[in-house]
Amino acid sequence: MSLEILGIQKPQSVFSNEGERYRPLTLQKLRKSHYWQLIPPDLQQGIEVVSQILPFRINQYVLSQLIDWDRIPEDPIYQLTFLQPEMLDRGDYLRLASLLSRGTGNAELDDEVRRIRLNLNPHPAGQLTDNVPRLGGRPLPGLQHKYRETVLFFPAAGQTCHAYCSYCFRWAQFVDLPEIRFQARDAEDLVSYLRVHPEVSDVILTGGDPMIMRTSVLRRYLEPLLDESLEHLQTIRIGTKTTAYWPQRFVSDPDADDLLRLFEEVTQSGRHLAMMAHYSHPVELEPPIARQAVSRIRSAGAEVRMQAPLIRRVNDRSEVWAELWRTGVRLGMIPYYMFVERDTGPRDYFAVPLARAYRIFRAAYKQVSGVARTVRGPSMSAHPGKVRVLGITRIAGERCFVLDFIQGRDPDWVRRPFFARYDRRARWLDELEPALGEERFFFEQTGSDRSNAD
Ligand code: SF4
Repeated sequence: MSLEILGIQKPQSVFSNEGERYRPLTLQKLRKSHYWQLIPPDLQQGIEVVSQILPFRINQYVLSQLIDWDRIPEDPIYQLTFLQPEMLDRGDYLRLASLLSRGTGNAELDDEVRRIRLNLNPHPAGQLTDNVPRLGGRPLPGLQHKYRETVLFFPAAGQTCHAYCSYCFRWAQFVDLPEIRFQARDAEDLVSYLRVHPEVSDVILTGGDPMIMRTSVLRRYLEPLLDESLEHLQTIRIGTKTTAYWPQRFVSDPDADDLLRLFEEVTQSGRHLAMMAHYSHPVELEPPIARQAVSRIRSAGAEVRMQAPLIRRVNDRSEVWAELWRTGVRLGMIPYYMFVERDTGPRDYFAVPLARAYRIFRAAYKQVSGVARTVRGPSMSAHPGKVRVLGITRIAGERCFVLDFIQGRDPDWVRRPFFARYDRRARWLDELEPALGEERFFFEQTGSDRSNAD
């Protein structure tokens, strides 16, 4: 299915962006660009107010190649990247707007900003507290170890992105809340930790977006992982949206060739290298340079897996997902995850109830061939693990969700089906109740544990 059938215009000028240097636009710079004049005044005010709370950053490629300005504000990439007034509670929005009208830099505004941010659940699923590993009793900042085989690593230099997604569940990494930011300055702790954890086969570099780093900086994090003492490390994954927001990184940036050589070194060391590429909509795969980026990554021996959350107003149609997976497969990528939007930030604006998410997933899955059915979802990255909605059914007269764990804090929970009472409004695991007369889900020890579950 083409983008025109999906109601999306192809980008008007298909220029190659060869040799163009990356230029991030903060709100200050955006105001000076001609794009600002294309945004109606009420939406401009929304951006001004909401950007006090949530991060905003965009670049010239997203503005010129991915957004259809004739369709704003409904355009999916505009929704993906631009802040909207309805992303905040109405009362909070009006209070902020009023405080802001008195000018920035006043203590009352700062206090209000902080209060609202902390109310938006800045670190969901216990990331900041429950998943931080220890070495010799010392917590290791910038590492998370939730699932037995996999360690997440947050390199300090990779804690920003080529543009920000307005729904980002890591938004707190990008705002002025330093005490709740996690990042690691170098790979030393990671390597020491891996040496004594032979059960870890996978490291995921994440952020932010690690591909924001220059190749020479990325090398400082990747090279130590190729050490012979880490024979048990099989796979290095890099979570990134650069393939969508700045594909020039892999094609025409000054160190793009060096980057591919670094990728080759990783794959030639016998490790599997995977780009966990965040694609939200098929329009991100339209520009020729976006396709070239995928081809170049694959030519270095790495593979590209596609994943994204299901987001109201951005990609909540089965045709959009089917097109995304089909195009991805044609380019040699592997559809991997459809996530459920997390319980953080402007979640009320974007969330899709689980019942609807399941229907969209199923309708999309039915449209694609077996090679695209590598995708899993809809999946919640919740406190106990990655919980997937497998189906909706009726058992002994009771309508239920059928769920299972794709990943669990306890590996024994994986692929064990369980049931929750059907609730058409439920959006997350903590809004579900056990079905069939059970008092609690099998993975909950006590009633009080459950209230902490997510
Ligand atoms: S690219 Fe990823 S980390 Fe960066 S803003 Fe988007 S979702 Fe968040």
